[in-house]
Amino acid sequence: MGNVPGKLENENAVRSNRSMSTSAALPHRTNGMNGARKARTSSMVGTILNSRRCSESSDLNPYKRKSTKDKERLKERHVKQLIVKHGESVDGGFLAPYGSSSIEKVDYDAGVVKSLILERRLAPFYTPLQDYDESWSHQELVKIVDGLPLHAPFSEDVEAFEGVPLGDLSQSDFDDLIDKSLSRREQRRMRSMIFNARLYRKRLLWQERENEKFLESKLEAKKPGARSNPCLPSDDLKFELYYKGVECPICFLYYPQPINMSRCCLQPICSECFVQIKRAEPHFPHDQDEDHKEEEEKDPNLLTSEPTNCPYCATSDYGITYDPVLTRKVGLQGIKPFSYVSGNLEPVESSEPARRRSLAATDRLVVTSDSLRPDWQVKLNKERMRLARRSANATAIHLSNQLVTPGHQASSNLQTHTVPSSNYHPEFAAAHAHDNGSLWPSNATAAEIENQMVEQAIKLSLAESKAAKKSSR
Ligand SMILES: [Zn+2]
Ligand SMILES: [Zn+2]
Repeated sequence: MGNVPGKLENENAVRSNRSMSTSAALPHRTNGMNGARKARTSSMVGTILNSRRCSESSDLNPYKRKSTKDKERLKERHVKQLIVKHGESVDGGFLAPYGSSSIEKVDYDAGVVKSLILERRLAPFYTPLQDYDESWSHQELVKIVDGLPLHAPFSEDVEAFEGVPLGDLSQSDFDDLIDKSLSRREQRRMRSMIFNARLYRKRLLWQERENEKFLESKLEAKKPGARSNPCLPSDDLKFELYYKGVECPICFLYYPQPINMSRCCLQPICSECFVQIKRAEPHFPHDQDEDHKEEEEKDPNLLTSEPTNCPYCATSDYGITYDPVLTRKVGLQGIKPFSYVSGNLEPVESSEPARRRSLAATDRLVVTSDSLRPDWQVKLNKERMRLARRSANATAIHLSNQLVTPGHQASSNLQTHTVPSSNYHPEFAAAHAHDNGSLWPSNATAAEIENQMVEQAIKLSLAESKAAKKSSR
């Protein structure tokens, strides 16, 4: 147990080194745009970034318990962020993924990812090609790109929601779909199933709607005498992006160059695959002999969560860098996609020489997996706290059982000092809860929380050994 707080402090130090500048890089990159366009674009960028700031300020204290409805609302808001909007493009790519993988796979912080794409530190989500043939002519390639939708069709989870009632999707309330004769636990399970089925259906509808809008605007633009749609890419842009596409070695799809590169071994990876790489859920180390113990007997401080490894060379703390083509700044904070004209037809070269060496995870150019899910530490602490509460409760029950055993002398000392003084005991929690309803002050650091947890564990084990001594007398 002793070395764990140290590890936690290290984790914090690494994190703060890496804390990202989400806006610092934005203002000076708007140079060269005309006034009106600049205002319009920056207001759009502002909206995208603001939605993130709102999400942060609404839960200042990440340890605060959220109601079921709050959790549902946040999940739905996240899913909305996964919908590609063809008007919000960056260098020919988008701010949301093309794939329709399960929400669990793409549970990254959408605000962080959008900011990184806008800052050109992470490749945008490009619509991939299933295949690429070098013999394709200019026209053929443009035609193929023209036929691409914004979203891939759904391939998973279809059966999982079959037969689940959906109710009226336009109404946010669906309480009447829940069978009130069931136990509370069953009702909770039913609610979660209905919510997920509804959200799946909504995501499908939202994706279809965006796909249709995109298709319609392309058809509209093809009509003779039609005014060009500034959001649609020019043929030059389509060709330049997909000409000499590169295959992502993980999903085997073809993406425009440049693509993200692993910080360690310089292997390519598409943004879609990168955002799905994440830490495993908090768990106990497998080599410990804790495996056979009950959950409440395990030491919460042993609970761990390792940084991700590079999928290619297994280096710990996976991260990527991205070198954008600075002469091809198109879409948000760049020129309109329809007005892009190729400068020369030897494209695909990054304006800076390609990186040829590995970079540290803390390098300012590197975007780590952890930075896309900045709440991993909070999740780990919450799980540790949950276990600590459980084991504290188990100890309390164990002690009070001992105290009421006939022939066993009750100790007033034990009653006043041990059981109720637990941080995790409901009475203590009620007396010490802060105004925001949380057990911890909103500015408590992980290390402080950790220290308190350790303190409680020591108190409890002291109490237990005292009780054991008394009973052996
Ligand atoms: Zn990929
Ligand atoms: Zn690597």
